[in-house]
Amino acid sequence: MVDVTIVGSGIAGLFVATRCARAGQKVALVTKQRLSDSSTNRAQGGIAGVLDTNDSEAVDAHIRDTLEAGAGIGDEKIVRMVVKEAAARIQDLVNEGVNFDKEENGAYDLAMEGGHQERRILHTKDATGAEIERALIASCRSEKRITIYEDCLALDLILDDRDSDERKIAGLWCLNSDGSVFTLPSRAVLIATGGAGQLWRHTTNPSVATGDGIAMAVRAGAAVADLEFAQFHPTAYSNGDSNPFLISEAVRGDGAVLMTAEDLENWHQAKQTDSSADPNDFSFMRQTDARGSLATRDIVARAIDTELKRSGRHHVLLVTEHLDAVHLASRFPNIANKMLKNGLKIGIDAIPVAPAAHYIVGGLAVNEWGEVWQRDLNSDDPTFSTKSDRLVDGLFAIGETACTGLHGANRLASNSLLEAVVFSHRAGVRVLEWLATAAEEKTSLPEWRADGLADLEEHAPLVHDRAQLRSTMSDDVGLVKSNWRMKRAQRRLALLNEEVERIWRRCLPSREIVELRNMVQLAQMIMAASLAREVNVGLHYNLDLT
Ligand SMILES: Cc1cc2nc3c(=O)[nH]c(=O)nc-3n(C[C@H](O)[C@H](O)[C@H](O)COP(=O)(O)OP(=O)(O)OC[C@H]3O[C@@H](n4cnc5c(N)ncnc54)[C@H](O)[C@@H]3O)c2cc1C
Repeated sequence: MVDVTIVGSGIAGLFVATRCARAGQKVALVTKQRLSDSSTNRAQGGIAGVLDTNDSEAVDAHIRDTLEAGAGIGDEKIVRMVVKEAAARIQDLVNEGVNFDKEENGAYDLAMEGGHQERRILHTKDATGAEIERALIASCRSEKRITIYEDCLALDLILDDRDSDERKIAGLWCLNSDGSVFTLPSRAVLIATGGAGQLWRHTTNPSVATGDGIAMAVRAGAAVADLEFAQFHPTAYSNGDSNPFLISEAVRGDGAVLMTAEDLENWHQAKQTDSSADPNDFSFMRQTDARGSLATRDIVARAIDTELKRSGRHHVLLVTEHLDAVHLASRFPNIANKMLKNGLKIGIDAIPVAPAAHYIVGGLAVNEWGEVWQRDLNSDDPTFSTKSDRLVDGLFAIGETACTGLHGANRLASNSLLEAVVFSHRAGVRVLEWLATAAEEKTSLPEWRADGLADLEEHAPLVHDRAQLRSTMSDDVGLVKSNWRMKRAQRRLALLNEEVERIWRRCLPSREIVELRNMVQLAQMIMAASLAREVNVGLHYNLDLT
């Protein structure tokens, strides 16, 4: 029996693992592939935070920007708490060995991104997440109390008593890469499984982002919130890849401008008579928002989507030729190299970009300590968001998989690494208090029942079902929704669910069936939440609502 099992090795899982281990707890860290396979590892822009907590104007401005991006439905108490705790948590990361870029005078080099009114984003070139993963993985590997299970997929939560109205976690079933299932008895489980971008056809998320933690916790009785708010990153490099490379918002923060091919031509022509012609004045974004290319992501992504539907093209252009190419290459070496491999020079060539699924704002409903709310088990609410008045005993959710209320209806750029580390710390504090008071655990837990199940022989149906799910979500429950499209998705997803459940009941678990089952269940929840949201707000945009 371990004290704490943590599922996921992004910033949220790794950070809390170090906290629990250093407090003397026996920790199991379970992760689906290698430790570094995570969205965290791909984060480019950085982590937002005001470092001088005495600068109340700067703190208030970060609070204001976060609430504004959240379109009025962010939880102000949570926003204030996270923004105020940012400096301490960023210092924790620095103490773990994270090297954020500094200016020559030793001050942190703070970047700007869409929706931020001030420079407040710490970064490590354009590979901030990889630097955070590097440091936190090193910390975890050096802690003797952490047992790391790589290539190990969390299958389902084990409940103390499945029939009880008061849900209590007793452990976890895990699937090894050789197909064997083992039981991991644990006093508390922290879900840090990240996002679910794989539900859509094009996504910036890694292959591990299939929403497993949300689906698993819902099966155990958890409540979810705000799943209709899925964020699409406006500027993924568009070369037809289903897992496109992200062109960080920080590039627009540094002056890059979104244009159609016609906008670019018009600007080039204008420059012949006026060499100082401002590219922003020629961008289609100006007709949508006064902030132009630096409007918040939802606005930019929808404007691009509208433009693509109007023109029938697959991408718009991110123009950087008016910027200093040498500076861009040194500020964004990762992006510059990636583009070079594709025959494009940043600072010279226009980059073709299109929106891709990027971040799921909603998730498991948690309190300010990352404890997961139990849902009302007697409710037939298809969104699974009707909370009861109690928590699932021993269950925590942190990072992208949780819905804390920080982001409201839309996430402000670079606030998610911040949210993950703040809540990871808080969950670490709370789980220790909880362990000190929690009752004795059961010593024996049920084994995974595999009697009578057969190996899956034909994989083609699962591959097709997964592709169909992703198409349905992209076409019908994506950036721009409508009632008839969502109803169509509802019918298709119900059918897919039936098919997948049929295979699930017959076959031994494999990663592909486990993920697909989770993806279909989560897709149904997202669709139900989208149908239930009766006002267009933030990331939710239904053409049939005014
Ligand atoms: C390309 C890209 C760029 C981004 N840039 C920024 C940025 O600049 N700033 C910012 O604030 N945010 C950014 N984000 C968002 C941010 O990176 C994520 O929200 C954040 O890293 C999530 O951290 P996490 O720890 O919750 O999850 P992740 O880092 O995604 O980690 C999830 C972990 O859970 C594991 N896992 C999943 N399911 C299972 C399972 N069933 N069993 C076992 N393990 C499982 C995965 O393998 C992984 O290790 C970006 C995201 C992407 C994709």
